[in-house]
Amino acid sequence: MKEFVQDEQAYLQWATKYKDTGFILNVDEPQNVDDYPKLHLARYKCVTSPKKTNYTNNEYFKVCSESRAELEAWSKSKYGKELTLCGVCFRKELKRN
Ligand SMILES: [Zn+2]
Repeated sequence: MKEFVQDEQAYLQWATKYKDTGFILNVDEPQNVDDYPKLHLARYKCVTSPKKTNYTNNEYFKVCSESRAELEAWSKSKYGKELTLCGVCFRKELKRN
């Protein structure tokens, strides 16, 4: 599991490397958004388009892993929160199966 804070380049490199298997957690700090941390799937490029450049800056950072369970446990222990699943990524995932 890796945290990317103010490091767009390293984050996008991870997202490219694990584009088929990666899970990406979008986190805001401080916690202002109710449905964050939000879980995305790297394969849908929802939060990895190189056109945007604000993934790990300001109030946002990313926690990345190939294990969804690991991210769920991280969110539970850090914020006491369940993960919200990204509607876009997981709708595509359902259609695929
Ligand atoms: Zn998504």
